[in-house]
Order: sequence, then C-alpha cells, then structure tokens
Amino acid sequence: MSKVALVRCEDYREDKVLQAVERGLDLLGGPGAFLRPGEKILLKPNLVAADPPERCSTTHPAVFGAVAKVLQKAGAQLSYGDSPGFHSPGAAAKASGIGEVARALQIPLADFVTGRTIFYQEGIQNKRFVIANGIFAQDGLVSLPKLKTHGFARMTGCIKNQFGCIPGKLKGEMHVKLPSALDFSRMLVDLNRYIAPRLYVMDGILAMEGEGPRGGTPKPMRVLLFSADPVALDATVCRMIGLDPALVPTTVYGQETGMGSMEGVELVGDPFDSFLDEGFEVKREPVKPYRKGALLKALNNLVIPKPYILEEKCVKCGVCVLMCPVKPKALQFPDRSRKTPPVYHYQRCIRCYCCHELCPKSAIRLQTPVLRRALDRLGLVQGKVSRPRRKKRR
Ligand code: SF4
Ligand code: SF4
Repeated sequence: MSKVALVRCEDYREDKVLQAVERGLDLLGGPGAFLRPGEKILLKPNLVAADPPERCSTTHPAVFGAVAKVLQKAGAQLSYGDSPGFHSPGAAAKASGIGEVARALQIPLADFVTGRTIFYQEGIQNKRFVIANGIFAQDGLVSLPKLKTHGFARMTGCIKNQFGCIPGKLKGEMHVKLPSALDFSRMLVDLNRYIAPRLYVMDGILAMEGEGPRGGTPKPMRVLLFSADPVALDATVCRMIGLDPALVPTTVYGQETGMGSMEGVELVGDPFDSFLDEGFEVKREPVKPYRKGALLKALNNLVIPKPYILEEKCVKCGVCVLMCPVKPKALQFPDRSRKTPPVYHYQRCIRCYCCHELCPKSAIRLQTPVLRRALDRLGLVQGKVSRPRRKKRR
C-alpha cells in the first residue's frame, strides 16, 4: 500500500517549513529511506517561468531550502535544476528566490539547457526522449512540485513536474507531436517512469486555483505532501480539491502502467479532512482528446476549451506568439506595429495552452465552448479517461 504523508504548515516562515519537512520525511521513514550518505541527488522544483514567489506559480524557496537542508544533513550532495517554458533556468531560479537559497546552501545549478537523447524501451507512448544533461550526473532525483491547476491536464502535480527535465523549446515540439491531451499525458507518464524520482514533496502551502499554472489565484491550502508514489500523491491532492482523480489522465495512466496506485492509499500525518476544499476552483470536466483532420478540427473547435486574450490586460509583448509551437503560428499580431493584441487562428490551434501558460500578464483565458457546456450538463461527455491504445505488433 502506498503511503502519503500530509503535514500542516500555515505559511512560509523558514523555521515552520523546516519543521514540517522534517516531520513529513520522518513519517515516511526519514531521509535515510531515500538516499545513502554521499549520493548525488538532484532537486527538481517547479520553475515554470521567471516569476516571483508571490505569484505562486513556482515552488516556494522556503520549501526548496527546507528539503535541501534535511537532505544535506543526511549526507546528500545536492544540485538542482528545471527547464522553464520561457526564460533561462538561471533567470527563473533567480526570480523565484530559489537561486539565492541554493547559493547560500552551496547547491549548484545543473545543466538544464543542453540535453541527450535516450531510448526507453518500456515507454508506451514515447520510447525516445531528449533529457537535460543535468539529470545524468546524479544518483537520484527528488521532485518538488507545486499544487496548481492546469488548463491542459486539469492539475499539475508530481508526474507533470518532470516535463521540465526536457530542455528548452523541445517541450513545445512535444506538444506539436502529441496534440491530444491524452497522448501527451501518456508521454508524461513514460518520462516519469524513466526518470523515476525517489521522493516527491509537494508545496501546497499556498496553492494556485483558477487559471493555472501561471495566471491563477493563490489559495492557502496550508499543506505539504510527501510520498514515494507520484500517483498516490496526485490522487490524494485531487481528492483534497474535490477533483475526481479519474479525470486526470496522468494519474490514470500512471496507475495503469504500474507506476503507483490511486486506490487504497495509506494517509499518515494530519487528518485529510482538515485540508479538504471542495470549493477549490479547478476544471472538473473530462479532458477531451484533440484529434487531427479537417472535420475533426472543426469538432475540436466546438468542444475543446479555446484560449482567448483579454485585451485590457495584454501588453503586446509577443511571448504567446513566440512560444506557440505550431507552424504556421496559431496566433499572430495582425500587423507589425503591435498596436493591437495577437489574433488567434483557431483552425491551426492544437490547444496545447503554451500561450496561456506563459503569458506574463495572465491575459489569456480559456473558454469552454457553449456546445461543450451543454453536453457536460446533459452528461454526454465521457467522465473517465480512455484506456491506452495498444499498438499492433507487426
Ligand atoms: S503574452 Fe500575453 S501580454 Fe504578451 S502579447 Fe500575448 S496575450 Fe498579450
Ligand atoms: S495558440 Fe496557444 S493553445 Fe493554440 S497552439 Fe498556439 S500556443 Fe498552443
């Protein structure tokens, strides 16, 4: 039975976070259960972009620092890294406050800019990945995800956190290659199975609800979660925010591939009910697979939430255009002067939501089409995630 530890932590005061991290790890057998003295361990926070901690889009530096101190005390040689969707790893580390904490604790930033191709025979969706070089020099990885909503995957948790192990713009290429949210989620599960973090510590002290993973609203959940099982931890968080884990493809596929278990999770630490928040603002509709082909594209437009720009918030910076991975771009400025916001070409848009995720002003929102809302009300949209397709053997 997989174990998930829940520890209450009211805020980000360093001494309180350190106590909570020590307690959480003790509930799982102590840091010695995850590493031996002298081992090289990479800490993988969520550094989605160069955002300050107040924005609540990145793992808080106090959580990073507390985990680092506990693991260093247990004899680990630490490094850290992530590849943001936009900005350099160094810029994101600096803005988030993690860079400063890492410097004080003498933890170097690993190479998350260049990568190496690997082949993973057990992969179901993907057998080939380019992975950041910083991963390879390590004995193990400890993942530090942030509790946030996500337009594409419903919520971003333990499993999705490893997407940042793919360097730079290769992440965008992955969206083009796998436009269906379901295929994309299977790829994330393959990636996580290959990287196989030893431990996950989720920062849910101040979570993000609404338009996550970058444009949402901070929401105090006052919890840190600990587990060696990413599926069990993500499923526990889903239940905590009133989201059926069966609606989150990474959790479902994670269980189906044997990476972990959604059911029969042993919860230890503070009572689950004391964190329950069924009013948490998160999309509770099933993920609709994006399908290619002219007719199906038209259907996508009728049922899959589409991004749109709030003109009054847009500063015409062009980040959304730059990061749109499809060719030709699915949103462009109408003219070179950039006097008006970019305009969407929805027939080209694969609904990867990179624009939504990376807009620095949270000016992009997701709108569920009227037809889709009606189908949801009538219960005509499947509520469960489909099973993985089996490839035919030749
Ligand atoms: S990234 Fe956001 S602010 Fe910048 S042009 Fe696009 S919508 Fe406007
Ligand atoms: S417009 Fe936005 S959602 Fe559509 S393909 Fe481009 S980045 Fe993805």
